[in-house]
Amino acid sequence: MKRKLKFATECVHAGEKPDPVFGAHTTPIFQTSTFIFESVEQGASRFAGEEDGYIYTRIPPNTPTHAVLTEKFAALEGGETGQTFASGMAAITAVVLTALKQGDHLISTDVVYGCTYSLFSEILPGLGIDVTFVDTTDIENVKKALKPDTKMIFLETPANPTLNICDIREIAGLARKQGVICVVDNTFATPYFQKPLLLGADISLSSCTKYIGGHADLLGGIVVCSKDFMKSLAKVVGYTGGVMGLHEAWLCIRGLKTLHIRMERHAENAQKVASFLESHPGVEWVRYPGLSDHPQHEAAKKQMSGYGGMLSFSIRGGIEAGNRLMNNVRLCSLAVSLGATDTLIQHPASMTHACVPKEVRGKVGITDGLVRLSIGIEDPEDIIADLEQALSKV
Ligand SMILES: *Cc1c(COP(=O)(O)O)cnc(C)c1O
Repeated sequence: MKRKLKFATECVHAGEKPDPVFGAHTTPIFQTSTFIFESVEQGASRFAGEEDGYIYTRIPPNTPTHAVLTEKFAALEGGETGQTFASGMAAITAVVLTALKQGDHLISTDVVYGCTYSLFSEILPGLGIDVTFVDTTDIENVKKALKPDTKMIFLETPANPTLNICDIREIAGLARKQGVICVVDNTFATPYFQKPLLLGADISLSSCTKYIGGHADLLGGIVVCSKDFMKSLAKVVGYTGGVMGLHEAWLCIRGLKTLHIRMERHAENAQKVASFLESHPGVEWVRYPGLSDHPQHEAAKKQMSGYGGMLSFSIRGGIEAGNRLMNNVRLCSLAVSLGATDTLIQHPASMTHACVPKEVRGKVGITDGLVRLSIGIEDPEDIIADLEQALSKV
C-alpha cells in the first residue's frame, strides 16, 4: 500500500505532475481558452462526459493548471475532488446555486463574512430560498431552526470577525441524520489547522484570496466536495462561469507550497499578540481561539490543531479610541482582507461588515469598538511594538 504523505509534503508535492512535453519542474500556466481534440469523436465523447479531458477553459476541469491546484488542495482537505473559482464569493454562490432551489431552506451561522451575509439575506430570498441565521455556537439553536424543507447548514468557523467557534462534528452529524448538506467556510483556519470533511462536513470551501494565495496579491476561491456533488457543481460552473484565472491558479499552487510554514508562524505570532493585548490596560477584551478565556476555547481545541492568525479586540474608549489606534499604526497596514504575510488591521463595523445592518451587528457581537487584526509573519516583537506605540496615542 502506498504510504500516506504528511501534510507538509503534500503542500509541496500533491497534485504536481512533471510536464510531459518539456519536463518543466513547476506546473506550467496553460494560457489557453480552448483545447484541440484529436477527432470529432473525441470531442463528442468529452462533451458527453464519457472521456476525461479538457474542452474549454470555462468548463471543468478547466485547464491542467487548475487541475493541479484542485488536486493539491483536495488532498490537503482530505476530500475527493473540487473546483476553483474567481473568488471566495463565486465559490459560495456556486455551491448555493447547486444545492438549493426555490422553496428550500438554508440555516447559516449568524456571524459570517459580510458579503456572505448579504448574499444570503438580500439575494437568496429573491430566488425563493428561505434563510435563517442562528448562533451556531450552540447546536440547540440549529435544531430549533430545522424545517422540513431545510436543505443546507452553512457554517463559518472561526467566524469573521468575532472568532466564534462552532462544533463541526456535532452539527455535521445532525445534518447527516436529517439528510441536510453541511457546508463549512474554512477560510480562517485553512486545512493546516482544521479539516471540516474529516469532521463530517460534506463541503469545505475557502477564499484563496486569504491564506491560500497568502501574499495579498490575488482573488480566488475553492470548493472541496465529493465526486457526486462535483457532477452538479460542474454544471453550475460551466453555465455561470466564475472560474479562477490562470495566473491566480498558478500563484495559489505556489502559495500552497509554503502554507504549513506560514500558518505555523501566523498562529505563533497571533498567540503572542493576543497575550500582549490581553495584558495591556487600554484593552477592554481580546478574542482569540487560542486564549483559554475564549468562550469556545474547548471546541476549538477539539477540532483545530492550531488557532490561526486572526484575532479581534476592543479598546477602552470605544470607537473614537479604536479609530485613533488604527490611524496611528505604522508597521501594520490599515486594510481589509486577511491572511497576508503582512499584518493588517481594520474596523469591521465600518468596513468588511458595514453591509450587515447595525441592529444585526449589535445582536451578534460585531460591536462598533471591535478592531480586527490579521497577524502577519513578521517578527512578533515588531508587531507588538507597533501596536504598543499606537495604543500609547489613544
Ligand atoms: C474573504 C472571505 C470570503 C470571500 O472571499 P473573496 O475571495 O473575497 O470573494 C468568504 N469567507 C470568508 C470567511 C472570508 O474571509
